[in-house]
Amino acid sequence: MSIIKLDYRGGYVMPGVCCVCGAPAGKGVYYAGGSSFSGKTHISLPFPLCDEHNQAFKDIGRRRRVGCLIGIAPLVLFILFLMATASVPAENAAVSIIRGLLVVVAVLGILGGVIASVAIGAGAPKAVSVKDFKLPGLLAGHVTLWFANEQVADLFATLNADAVKERRR
Ligand SMILES: [Zn+2]
Repeated sequence: MSIIKLDYRGGYVMPGVCCVCGAPAGKGVYYAGGSSFSGKTHISLPFPLCDEHNQAFKDIGRRRRVGCLIGIAPLVLFILFLMATASVPAENAAVSIIRGLLVVVAVLGILGGVIASVAIGAGAPKAVSVKDFKLPGLLAGHVTLWFANEQVADLFATLNADAVKERRR
């Protein structure tokens, strides 16, 4: 891994290699992004991906969406059941029990979804991330990037040598 701090630029010269493995880049793009603490400013830098890693990130995105649906389904079921039984008197024990059970299932579903999402994210290939950044204002801006792949970091630092302020390994 490697950390590079650069002067803020609207864009950087991107290496023609995958930001995960350093293989020749395909058409895929990995967006390394960051948001300021206040959430008011954002940055998104497009790094190339090889076909294999482009596919890997696509698969992860799809698994996340499926996981999200599975997590939310019990909650939707609970709301539908509430709507369907709205006119049933509150003292109806069977309806109360089912409502209670659906709440438990909905909570477990959401928890499961969160855990699955973290697990899926942890399995994602490591590429590039924006550690911090500051848009130019009164002072010059900067961007600090973290690279999982040292060769990619070397290449990026060489291509953008005039903007590099600091390099840490
Ligand atoms: Zn790759």
